[in-house]
Amino acid sequence: MKIINKKLSMKTRGSGDLINITEEISQILKTSNVKNGSVTIFHIGSTAAITTFEFEPGLIKDMQELYEKIVPSNKHYHHDDTWGDANGFSHVRAALQGPSLTVPFQDGGLLLGTWQQVILAEFDMRPRQRNIVVQIIGE
Ligand code: ZN
Repeated sequence: MKIINKKLSMKTRGSGDLINITEEISQILKTSNVKNGSVTIFHIGSTAAITTFEFEPGLIKDMQELYEKIVPSNKHYHHDDTWGDANGFSHVRAALQGPSLTVPFQDGGLLLGTWQQVILAEFDMRPRQRNIVVQIIGE
């Protein structure tokens, strides 16, 4: 069994930016030469998240509206008092959504549904350079 750690770096445009990274993960998996196992996609940092949904314009809007509804950006958060950086909502959204996703793969291909993509969700207020660990475990 092999354990391979790769890094994926992505530029984001700030809060509400949802980026489809499925192709990047597939490419990394291909170059690893591991055929069967599972891949963990883990975002390093506390104001962005990794998730999965159908990446299409309607659902992108639905997700952005959901984030705004359950964790409003125009409200005061206690975290804002700690550093004075006003991104309490970013941290709460990221914690709720979670930093990682594990996807099984077989014969070198991710076992995702046709309408199921791997998504990097940016919650911070400003554009960021994001670092994602792609850990491949298998044989
Ligand atoms: Zn903060």
